[in-house]
Amino acid sequence: MTTLPPSLTAGFASSGEIHAAAHGAWIEIDLEAVAANWRAISRKVAPAATAAAVKADAYGLGMQRVGDALWQAGCRHFFVAHLSEGAALRQTLPYALIHLLHGPPKGFEAEVLDYGLIPVLNNPAQLQAWIGLAQHLDRGPLPAVLHLDTGMTRLGISEADYLALLHDKSRLRHLDLRFVMSHLACADERGHSMNRAQLTQFGKLRAKLPDVEASFANSAGLFLGRPYHFDLVRPGIALYGGAPFPDEPNPMRPAISIKARILQTHTIKAPRTIGYGASYGIKQGRIATLPIGYADGWPRSLSNLGKAMIGPYECPYAGRVSMDLMTIDVSAVPDELLGPEAVVTLMGGPISLEQVAAWAGTNSYEIISRLGPRLARLYTGPYANSNDRQP
Ligand SMILES: *Cc1c(COP(=O)(O)O)cnc(C)c1O
Repeated sequence: MTTLPPSLTAGFASSGEIHAAAHGAWIEIDLEAVAANWRAISRKVAPAATAAAVKADAYGLGMQRVGDALWQAGCRHFFVAHLSEGAALRQTLPYALIHLLHGPPKGFEAEVLDYGLIPVLNNPAQLQAWIGLAQHLDRGPLPAVLHLDTGMTRLGISEADYLALLHDKSRLRHLDLRFVMSHLACADERGHSMNRAQLTQFGKLRAKLPDVEASFANSAGLFLGRPYHFDLVRPGIALYGGAPFPDEPNPMRPAISIKARILQTHTIKAPRTIGYGASYGIKQGRIATLPIGYADGWPRSLSNLGKAMIGPYECPYAGRVSMDLMTIDVSAVPDELLGPEAVVTLMGGPISLEQVAAWAGTNSYEIISRLGPRLARLYTGPYANSNDRQP
């Protein structure tokens, strides 16, 4: 690795990061920003506790590194979707409270327990399986979170099934209920009537288990005000710098940038077209080719719509984003900024995550959670090397 020419490592602090430069396209993840976002939310919602949703590899940022940084910042509750994610996070965080949003997979209840994961029980079948395991083991109640459906109609126990459970103390006594939870359908639309309606319904249902703590809000939900906080908030996107409300100024600190080096430039002196479908025409100017494409999760729908930055210069996407490559119009960029060390910013600085999502016709979550493994992850901030420390 150390034999790579210095130009490839320019701008990268340590030898472990040479890999990132060699990839030609990478994600820079500011772990201090992630931790700062967690601390800001913790202060905002205190005395409620602040968890972290780290499912889907911490929305593409890398669950291990993000989990480790958040643990050091003081986070103790983590939410993953799958058993495999919980098992992986357990390797990094031996003492964390790791909650399994999808619940125990049928037939793998014992594994959930073995990894010390706390399952979210979403439906009568999961409830029965978890209670069944408790009865079988006969060593006291098993930890669980009870998910109540208050209007999302995706996961969660219906009001009728909840009431039935409450009436059957012989089943309930097998559960060490850590929380009752629910999830908002329209939290990112401040004025949506669903927010109040779900809050009212959740308040009514959780009051039937007054001794059990409650968790209701995701990132946007916790910005709807105190009544939404209960005992534990569960932000994801806001920790990673995403705007809780895509149409409002972003109170969070951006944590992710996406950058690439130029693979080739073309000086155009007579009219030509660029790329697949010949969808972009240019009479004269300059085109730069970047080593990132939709196989890296960089959306094809950005074709001819997105913009990149080279220094202060805006460079429109020119032609289609293809599998491994994309092309930008760099006609406005001076020569000295187009050398082999030039760094093109695809996201970050003036190009916000929300802006990229809007160009691509999707939301911020989809943009970052689909960033592929071929993009190197370059971690910055004081938490960056904590995994390399000796135990
Ligand atoms: C993903 C998820 C969250 C986090 O949502 P954000 O909008 O990213 O804050 C919280 N709760 C549940 C149930 C989730 O699935």
